Amino acid sequence: MTQERSRYSVIVPVYNEKEVLPELYRRLTEVMSSLQEPYEIVMVNDGSRDQSAEIVRELHEKDPHIKLINFSRNFGHQIAISAGMDYAVGDAVVIIDADLQDPPEVIRDLIAKWHEGYDVVYAVRAQRKGETFFKSFTASLFYRIIYRITDVDIPLDTGDFRLMDRKVVQTMGKMREKHRFMRGLSSWVGFRQTGVEYVREERFAGETHYPFRRMLRLALDGITSFSYFPLQMATYLGFITAGVSLVSIIAVVFLRLYGHQALQGQATTLVGVLFLGGVQLIFLGIIGEYLGRIYDEVKNRPLYIVSETVGFEKEERLTPR
Ligand code: UDP
Ligand code: MG
Repeated sequence: MTQERSRYSVIVPVYNEKEVLPELYRRLTEVMSSLQEPYEIVMVNDGSRDQSAEIVRELHEKDPHIKLINFSRNFGHQIAISAGMDYAVGDAVVIIDADLQDPPEVIRDLIAKWHEGYDVVYAVRAQRKGETFFKSFTASLFYRIIYRITDVDIPLDTGDFRLMDRKVVQTMGKMREKHRFMRGLSSWVGFRQTGVEYVREERFAGETHYPFRRMLRLALDGITSFSYFPLQMATYLGFITAGVSLVSIIAVVFLRLYGHQALQGQATTLVGVLFLGGVQLIFLGIIGEYLGRIYDEVKNRPLYIVSETVGFEKEERLTPR
């Protein structure tokens, strides 16, 4: 690190979080101001339908550290983070959820590691509080599956709560893929990475915006972005089925020639056909998942549409867009 003072950016994706914003502001400001260095808090309002935007605007009026990016509609958590990273100017950029599940005080530990020379410091959930068994179970299963089937080492039990050096943010800013799995991308870029453990708290107020359907979509984005394994499964299964069938054909012919009644009845045939039909449909669906994503890339629409920004000076941003 140089002798100059470092600038910090904190990015907060905000979607219908009016109950938590004042408390978030209080705790974040307490941590950030104690560092005695310049900082900004970039709140990305992802098309909230409540008064989140107005609350952030009021915060900005009394404290210019707070900046606001308003989306034209809801684009999703991962896109909101990406927009924040495009606009942030810090030498170190922290991503944190609005709902105080990620305690702002942990930022001090992230920064300490950054000072040791790490470029990505991710926060590892040593324990999760106040989440349903189903949620922590499916999440933990997902992290383990993706860890197994991808070539990128995406750390286990790690969300988007992390600190990234400016050069990491700039590198990631050049990657404009539409179905973004940010924690995967931030592992993919490399550089020096390390983790810090923390206890994931309960949501301060409100409810999760990740019901099962959205979790599944995020999981599919993560897997399809970093692995071809689901596609290759069709090949493996094809070989196995073809192999088993070949053996069966020989067996059937053999039994037939020697006068045995081989494989009686239509039920067997029907079950076999239905099973294979089902398997084929599943793989068509898997191919569809990839195909749809390819289509989204080809259309090349912008990642997000900003309707308004508050508190930014024109020239300053990490990745010009
Ligand atoms: N979020 C967002 N856009 C969305 C959904 C969520 O910006 O479409 C934000 C939300 O305000 C919060 C963060 O993403 O700051 C994580 O969401 P949430 O706490 O609902 O997810 P969970 O912690 O339950 O996985
Ligand atoms: Mg949360």
